[in-house]
Amino acid sequence: MAYRGRFAPSPTGALHFGSLVTAVASCADARAHGGEWLVRIEDLDRPREAPGAADGILRTLLALGLRWDGAPLFQSRRAAAYEEALARLGALGLTYPCACSRTEIARNGRRGSVGPIYPGTCRHGLPPGRQPRSIRLRTSPAPVQFRDRIQGEQRQDVAAVMGDFVLRRADGIHAYQLAVVVDDAWQGISQVVRGADLLASTPAQCLLQQALGLPTPTYAHVPLAVDAAGRKLSKSLASAPVDPADPMPALRRAWAWLGQTPGPTPTSPADFWRHATRAWRIERVPALTRACIAPDP
Ligand code: GLU
Repeated sequence: MAYRGRFAPSPTGALHFGSLVTAVASCADARAHGGEWLVRIEDLDRPREAPGAADGILRTLLALGLRWDGAPLFQSRRAAAYEEALARLGALGLTYPCACSRTEIARNGRRGSVGPIYPGTCRHGLPPGRQPRSIRLRTSPAPVQFRDRIQGEQRQDVAAVMGDFVLRRADGIHAYQLAVVVDDAWQGISQVVRGADLLASTPAQCLLQQALGLPTPTYAHVPLAVDAAGRKLSKSLASAPVDPADPMPALRRAWAWLGQTPGPTPTSPADFWRHATRAWRIERVPALTRACIAPDP
C-alpha cells in the first residue's frame, strides 16, 4: 500500500516542542518512504479551542518547512461522517445510550490505566427515569494485538482496561476515538506516527476499525516530551511555543530528541528537510519518554 501519513494537532494553543517532535517524526517518516503527509486539524472540542490556534499551528509548520499535501482537513466539518459511522455501529447492535455522569462513573467505576473503567450501568438499558446523555460502544472481552514500530508488540483487552467507551459525548461532541478512526480511514492513512500518550488508545481504535470494517494503519508512537517534573508538555502550557521566526533551533532540537544523527549544521528549513528525508531512521527513535529540558544541540 502507498505510504500516507498525517499530523493531527488539536488547536488548543500554539505549536509547542512536544507537538513539533511528533510533526517532524511523522513528516520525516513519510518523506523518507516517498509518501504523502497530510495535516488534520482536530477541532472537535470547540469549547477547548484557542482562537486563532489552528492558523498559528499551520503557519508555524510552514515556517519550519513542514509542507503538507492537499488541503488540511478540519474535523469540525465532518460531523455527518461521524454520525453515519455511529448509525452503522448502532445497526450492528454495538452502541447504547448512557445516562451516567462523569462523577457517577468515577464513583462506581474501577480505576484503569486510562481513567475509570465504565462499570456497565446502562449496558442493558437506561435505569428508570434517567435520560440518555452519551453513546457508548459495547465492547467484548478479547485482546487486541498490534506491533508498534517504536514501542514493539502491544496487547490490550479494551473491555477490561477501558470498558465500554464513549463515541458521542453528553454535550453532543463526537469522541476523539470515533473521529480519528473515521478520518484516518477516509483520508487513506496507512501509517500513523504520533505521541506515545495515545498508545493506550490505539487498541480501542483498532476495535472500532474492525467493527466498521475499516483497515488498521501501522502505528509508531514517539516518546513524549515531558517537562522537568515529568509532566506532559501540553499545548495549553504556553511556556515553550515554537518560534516560527527562528525555526532552526527547534528543528535541530526535535531531530536530536528523536535520536537522529545530525548532518552538517542545516542553515534553512529546506536544508534541514533535504538531510532529514535521506537520514531518517525510525529504529533510532528511543522508546522511552524523557524530559525535554535540554540545551540546544
Ligand atoms: N489530536 C491529538 C493531539 O493533538 C492527536 C491525535 C492523533 O494523532 O491521533 O494530541
